[in-house]
Amino acid sequence: MQQFDVLIVGGGIAGASLGAEVAGKARTAIIEAEAHCGMHSTGRSAAFWLESYGGPNVAVLSAASRDFLASPPADFSDHGFLRERGAVHLTQDLLPELPEGVVSRAVEREELERLVPGIRPKWQRALLEPGCADIDVAGLHDSYLRKFRREGGTLANDARLETATFAEGLWTVRLSDGSAVHAAVLVNAAGAWADQVAEACGVRPIGIAPKRRTMVQLRVGRSGLRDLPLVDDAAGTFYFKGEGKCSIWLSPHDEIESDPCDAAPEEIDIATAIDRFEHVVDWPVEAVERSWAGLRSFAPDRVPVYGFDPASPSYFWCVGQGGFGIQTAPAASRLAASLLLHWEHPAPLDRIDTTVYSPGRFANY
Ligand SMILES: Cc1cc2nc3c(=O)[nH]c(=O)nc-3n(C[C@H](O)[C@H](O)[C@H](O)COP(=O)(O)OP(=O)(O)OC[C@H]3O[C@@H](n4cnc5c(N)ncnc54)[C@H](O)[C@@H]3O)c2cc1C
Repeated sequence: MQQFDVLIVGGGIAGASLGAEVAGKARTAIIEAEAHCGMHSTGRSAAFWLESYGGPNVAVLSAASRDFLASPPADFSDHGFLRERGAVHLTQDLLPELPEGVVSRAVEREELERLVPGIRPKWQRALLEPGCADIDVAGLHDSYLRKFRREGGTLANDARLETATFAEGLWTVRLSDGSAVHAAVLVNAAGAWADQVAEACGVRPIGIAPKRRTMVQLRVGRSGLRDLPLVDDAAGTFYFKGEGKCSIWLSPHDEIESDPCDAAPEEIDIATAIDRFEHVVDWPVEAVERSWAGLRSFAPDRVPVYGFDPASPSYFWCVGQGGFGIQTAPAASRLAASLLLHWEHPAPLDRIDTTVYSPGRFANY
């Protein structure tokens, strides 16, 4: 039977990035239920980095990830993963307040018309956040998996954790093919399945709630869209960004409670997205080219969870990455690795209060 120091459940961006950080220091394996890593949330995102997103405890991780995403070390990737486009947060009311330190400025109607040609008259003001960028998600995820293997990590696909028990300092993990693996530390990086996996390990769930979000790729009767800013509204009812010359990615900003599953878009959410879009710009909608949905999984306080379980000290949580798991991955994985291996937090993470991410905050949940 194989034995590891660290066994990570889930090969999405959370498991892959944490695995890449620890594989060189501890015998590490990732088990992924699907035939390919990245089939669930990681492969379905809107692929942007938006510093203001998710509140201050997320923004600090996004900010600390920016340099790595823009200019990763040469042995990680020979190119950066960001392409800047900026974001405009539209409002019909007061300008939104962004977390401290996020660069932004107010934009009035005349400039707004230049930034978003064809914008409807009801939108008079916006806040421009120039740092918003697209992320090459597949490239980032692949680079983490490559680093994980290069540093000696073992990746098993089609390997679903069915149950796990802890005795005499070791976890025994039973997999779907009937085989078993031993590990000293078990990491839950199972995304939407986080609570199910905890229950299968005899660990108390912490209330990770998967919520479905819909994305639609529309062809529109307007060109030159690729480099326009991301457009959202401060009230959180839609966002869209140029994808191709005449196509956009659009979301109705839905957040529909769901069981963990292979999420699929519903007609009503696609229709809602298009209706909201038509109230923002006058670009004629020509076709729905494709649509998809994914699950964003949140802890009860919507802050991610990194740390050892207070009641099961060999069980590590790396979950609740909500709608920010890609843009925070570089800092979050280094922070989680330092908690997992009991290291000092490397700069700039040494300035972050890690107790806000601790699973211990749900002890009375
Ligand atoms: C529509 C949408 C838009 C988004 N946009 C953005 C964005 O613009 N920027 C951003 O940063 N983030 C965005 N996100 C959020 C981001 O995609 C997630 O936070 C991130 O992908 C979560 O990664 P993960 O590894 O935790 O989950 P996943 O990628 O879902 O990985 C979890 C893995 O665990 C595996 N697993 C589950 N149970 C078991 C088991 N028992 N045994 C073995 N393996 C198991 C699953 O098969 C899965 O592959 C978006 C998400 C969605 C859905």
